[in-house]
Amino acid sequence: MAKIAILDEHIANQIAAGEVVERPASVVKELVENAIDAGATKIEVAVEEGGLQLIRVTDNGSGIEPDDCETAFYRHATSKITSGRDLFQIRSLGFRGEALPSIAAVAKVRLVSSSNDTGLGRVIEIEGGSLKLNEDIAAPQGTDIAVKELFYNTPARLKYMKTIQTELGHISDVMYRQALAHPEIAFALRHNGNTLLQSPGGGDLLQVIAAIYGVNASKGMVAIEAEDLDYRITGFIGRPDLARSNRGGMSTIVNGRYIRNQGLHQAILRAYHTLLPINRYPLVVLMLDMHPSLVDVNVHPAKLEVRFSKEPELNGFVENSVRAVLNGQVLIPQVVRQTIGKGPNRSVIQEQFHFPAPPLGAEEGASATGQTAAAAEGTLRPPGNGGAPAGGAPIGGAPQRSAAAFGAPAAAEGLTLR
Ligand code: ADP
Ligand code: MG
Repeated sequence: MAKIAILDEHIANQIAAGEVVERPASVVKELVENAIDAGATKIEVAVEEGGLQLIRVTDNGSGIEPDDCETAFYRHATSKITSGRDLFQIRSLGFRGEALPSIAAVAKVRLVSSSNDTGLGRVIEIEGGSLKLNEDIAAPQGTDIAVKELFYNTPARLKYMKTIQTELGHISDVMYRQALAHPEIAFALRHNGNTLLQSPGGGDLLQVIAAIYGVNASKGMVAIEAEDLDYRITGFIGRPDLARSNRGGMSTIVNGRYIRNQGLHQAILRAYHTLLPINRYPLVVLMLDMHPSLVDVNVHPAKLEVRFSKEPELNGFVENSVRAVLNGQVLIPQVVRQTIGKGPNRSVIQEQFHFPAPPLGAEEGASATGQTAAAAEGTLRPPGNGGAPAGGAPIGGAPQRSAAAFGAPAAAEGLTLR
């Protein structure tokens, strides 16, 4: 008697959900990536109770054809690749066709989508993997997907969830990364009705940095732009006085995808070398663009880790480019002596380290987003961002570090995105 059987689709989806849907933030990540892939210019995310009660993502992208709405929830159903060869030329964020069926296996999902501007669309409702509703509905172009009662049918996973604040921190982190990776898209994040992030869209990365890290931080960022035959680097690197106590402020974005990569982090840290005190990490938003064949994104279920085909060359290029920008800046702190008190008794001398004013005209861009920046600096700052001052604070001593400071494995430090 044969003992090996092929699992039915629902069980397979539940298994995939174990990898793809680790926590509410993973759902946010997958749904937002779908909206980005659909060419949306506006993506709104509303969550309740840390995402466990509700995650709703509304976009103005291409929408889904009525007859494709149900198919989108089938395992390995995707519009993004059609052949094995496409796997080596991925230009979209998604391609595995796993997110929607995985999410629908562990939650109650309602999807409304319209692929044109006739006002007609389709609504689908799925509960724990079974279809409850599939009918026509009035809808604007785009997609509106609500994920309710996440993990309601997987109590063991639900029990594993941390506090609402922790889950919300992870969700904010996902949204910050996506907003940084796509300054051309206007993102909004609301929790129980409160706005936590609002990025303006329009393509100005510095404005997004201001919305997330604060206006002061955005003023201390220096533009980077470099190119060789294979790679193009753009973005902003932070002046050393913006350094933080963990790596949460180091964002690396490859072809529009936020990724984690140890080698890239090390390359950036090598470039800062003696400019940072021990155990301080720079604020950096680095956009790398390359031909899709130079990067393998199919190595991680959540596509958070990637492999580069010419890793040493890439890391060398990043290190040299970052160092060149830092070398071009006046980054040696000046000691400012401040005399305190008046008259003959003025004896107290205070020494402070100041970095010369950044050579950036950051003012006007930053102001529009001041309100959400304040939110980002408050209690909602995700764990990955430490709690380090967001900007302006002079460091307490001369920059110094030992080579060992960056030699330690960076394991789980800082980054919380899943
Ligand atoms: P993948 O993104 O890997 O293709 P998903 O399960 O995330 O797989 O989505 C399945 C398909 O549903 C996508 O390929 C896409 O065609 C469609 N889809 C999902 N979300 C959206 C959206 N917000 N806008 C337009 N199409 C979408
Ligand atoms: Mg997807």
